[in-house]
Order: sequence, then C-alpha cells, then structure tokens
Amino acid sequence: MSTASAYLTVRGIDVDVIYKDIKNLHIGVYPPMGRVRVAAPQRLDDDQVRLAVIQRLPWIKRQRKELQDAPRQSEREMVTGESHYVWGVRRRLKIAERPGRAHLEVYGERLVLYTPADSPVDKRREYLDHWYREQLREAIPDLIARWEAKLEVSVPKWTIRRMKTKWGSCNRETRHIWFNVELAKKHPDCLEYIVVHEMAHYFERNHGDRFTKLMDKYLPDWRGRRDQLNGAPLAEETW
Ligand SMILES: [Zn+2]
Repeated sequence: MSTASAYLTVRGIDVDVIYKDIKNLHIGVYPPMGRVRVAAPQRLDDDQVRLAVIQRLPWIKRQRKELQDAPRQSEREMVTGESHYVWGVRRRLKIAERPGRAHLEVYGERLVLYTPADSPVDKRREYLDHWYREQLREAIPDLIARWEAKLEVSVPKWTIRRMKTKWGSCNRETRHIWFNVELAKKHPDCLEYIVVHEMAHYFERNHGDRFTKLMDKYLPDWRGRRDQLNGAPLAEETW
C-alpha cells in the first residue's frame, strides 16, 4: 500500500491532501488557523479532490470563520500560575511586583513578568505581546541569513504582525515576508519551516508539485514541522 500527498490551493485556501487506502474522503478543518486537510482514497486524483473541496467550501468556510471568531485561548489574566508557551515550551507565569518599567524574562522554568502591582491586565498582555515580538526579531535574522545562502536569494524586508489565518505570508514582487507573532509560542523548528516556506514562494507561487519538490529538497522534514504547527482537528466530516 502506498501513500502520497499533495499540497493544493483551492480558491485561495491551502489544502493538504494525503492519499490513503480508505473508502471515503474526509475533510478536516484544524485550529488554530483553520488549516484544511483531506484524507482521500487512492482511486481519486488531485482534480477530483479539488472538486470535492470546492463542493464543501461553504462548510469549510463556516468552520474557519468559527475558529477565527473563537477567542484564541481562554482570555489571559496575566496572573501568577497561568501557563504561557514560549518557543514550544509551556511555562508558568510569575508576576514579580516591583515599581518602574515592566520587564519579562525566562528564569529557570518560569516566565517572569516584573511589573508594578497596580498595572492593568491589558497592559500586561501588551508587554507579553511585545516580548514575543522581540523573541522573533532576535531569532529571524539568523534563519533568514542561513536560508538566503542556501537558496541564493535575498529577503529585502520582513515584518512581524498578528494574523488570524496564516503563520506567514509573502509578496512575491517585493519579496516582503510577514511572520505571525504567534510563532514565538511554537518550537523554533516551526519558525524555520515558515521561513523556508515563504522563501520557496519566491520560486513558486502555488503549493503544487514544484513547490512540494522544493520543500522536499531543502527541508525534507517540513511535513513534521508543519504538523507541529497545527493541532488536533476541530471537526471532521465524512461522506
Ligand atoms: Zn504558502
């Protein structure tokens, strides 16, 4: 029994397809970004899968909208004991009350926020958001430099921003790459995967065969890294 996979873009939506020894086609929409994954019987080909996805687009869009409207995580209260992810590691937050400027650091197993006792919760969230951005700003230049050398292209500009449905994106004309701030919560391997993925778009717009081959060549374990980025399915439908 053989399995094959494909990476399609259907009406602007990225779809991962895996062909398996199964009877029915399954479509799943995965949090947090609403990634679409299809398990398809081997008798089907990419075009037939594409058609099946198009037929289910209203359902897929509803699932994605639900995910995007759902609160990202239970609202963070920014109190001691609460857990927060940093580079794929779950850390307990410790609030260290002290006057003066806020400051965040990883200390031992903990993520420590030094802040005045009366600092409001939304301010504390803002500090954390800035800190995550800082982590990315420190990590990204080395990764980009490494992959610029390997792929023999340059990245003239990159930016960190909050995105609801994407881990990264790029403008092929200006070569500008955007990174989702949420990447600072994931294992660094995931960030590298996004760097390589977006840079691979310089050579290939779509997620077709050519794109998959590029990824296989340069980052053979990219599928595992991608799966690490995307959790368990929100819902799965069979027909
Ligand atoms: Zn892409």
